[in-house]
Amino acid sequence: MKFISTRGQTEPHTFSQAVAVGLAPDGGLFLPERLPDITPRLKSWQNLSYAQLCTEFMGIFATDIPEEVMGPLVQRSYAHFTHPSIAPLQKLDDHTYVLELFHGPTLAFKDFALQLLGNLYEAQCKRSGQSINVLGATSGDTGAAAIHGLLGKPSTAVFILYPEGRVSPLQERQMTCTGAGNVHAIAIDGSFDDAQRIIKNIFGDHEFSRQHHLSAVNSINLARVLAQCVYYLYAWLQLPEAKRSQVEFVVPTGNFGNIFAGWLLGEMGVPILGFKVATNRNDILHRLLTTGEYRMGAVQPSLAPSMDIQVASNFERFLYYELNCDAEKVREVMAQLKTTGTYRFENFDKSTFSSSCATDAEITAIIHRVHQHYNYVVDPHTACAFKELNPDRVSVVLATAHPAKFPDAIHAAIGHSPLHPLLEMLKSRPVVKHRLPADELAVKLFIKQRAV
Ligand SMILES: *Cc1c(COP(=O)(O)O)cnc(C)c1O
Repeated sequence: MKFISTRGQTEPHTFSQAVAVGLAPDGGLFLPERLPDITPRLKSWQNLSYAQLCTEFMGIFATDIPEEVMGPLVQRSYAHFTHPSIAPLQKLDDHTYVLELFHGPTLAFKDFALQLLGNLYEAQCKRSGQSINVLGATSGDTGAAAIHGLLGKPSTAVFILYPEGRVSPLQERQMTCTGAGNVHAIAIDGSFDDAQRIIKNIFGDHEFSRQHHLSAVNSINLARVLAQCVYYLYAWLQLPEAKRSQVEFVVPTGNFGNIFAGWLLGEMGVPILGFKVATNRNDILHRLLTTGEYRMGAVQPSLAPSMDIQVASNFERFLYYELNCDAEKVREVMAQLKTTGTYRFENFDKSTFSSSCATDAEITAIIHRVHQHYNYVVDPHTACAFKELNPDRVSVVLATAHPAKFPDAIHAAIGHSPLHPLLEMLKSRPVVKHRLPADELAVKLFIKQRAV
């Protein structure tokens, strides 16, 4: 199978090519050239393990990677998850389930994609004989998950910039207490925006970027979207048959990457009744779904920081389908969004999507309520999804992070906070971080000295 760009001005790429470049050369995002109908295969997938299901699913798309390579690669990717079923589906009551996506090495759902992506990068290094230096800026979860996806891998190094003093202490420990020589956590004296600007400038220096085989870690890689389809499929297959066609997935949403993967699976024929976009106070998508207008605003910090976004970068993929695969129209809309920061959708498809938004006060109240009602502790991101569940549907709430990652918010809501052995272990390990000024040249020099 080949992959095309949402902006229509890129030659079709193979899976490996699309994964290697990340962003399409025309500035668009990669999508499969056609969506397969997977319904004939659902029956035979019924009893597969998570890794087996993932191998089967990825095999449909990664046709340039032999199954005898993909199978072990997927096995390795999920070998470090601490729950035997990888993505357990917990039943809270007859029409409420939680899909726990926090049993990976960094206790957030991003591990599902980034563990796999790390192994795909490694396979690519082996094939091409070239090294790869992954570079990114983070305000928390993505950096930690990227680091743990590449931890100790030969011929790779990972450089993650984060704003000194502005990520949570536990998140910082996840990035800085790894003990791996190929991991470089860089605390810059500046804001997250400074970190992002530096990364953008470094990639803008094509000569430097080529010379050091730099690759970006971000939320738009094709492999991330496809890897995330798998847990929706796995959850759907675990539901009792009578409930499957009633299901609505409720997804704590920031960049629209997670929920888009679920929607895409639905487009491949899996009968899913709906998707609910759950946002925190940064409600750009909630406003879109209620008013039809997409309008960017300023980012507001919240108790669910991994959803503090202004631009939902994966939204362009959905837009492509919403605009009937008209790449020219996508370019037009994206250009308008860039210049005016707003776009009004006529006839937006509201049959599949609904939405909700939760303020910080509501997040705290919801954590308390869910604990009282179900004796179940949700993290602040997952709490947004419990804002209001549709009683006429079977809700599957995606739990995107383990509550132990956010002890202060949980303590404020229920008076104590759960511990997790992985996080406790980090507390006894030495912190290794590099403090640099928010300066492009300083960061470049650092990379130059340590790139592989
Ligand atoms: C990244 C993240 C999200 C948002 O996911 P998107 O794919 O950006 O919509 C939600 N919750 C947690 C815990 C995250 O780390």
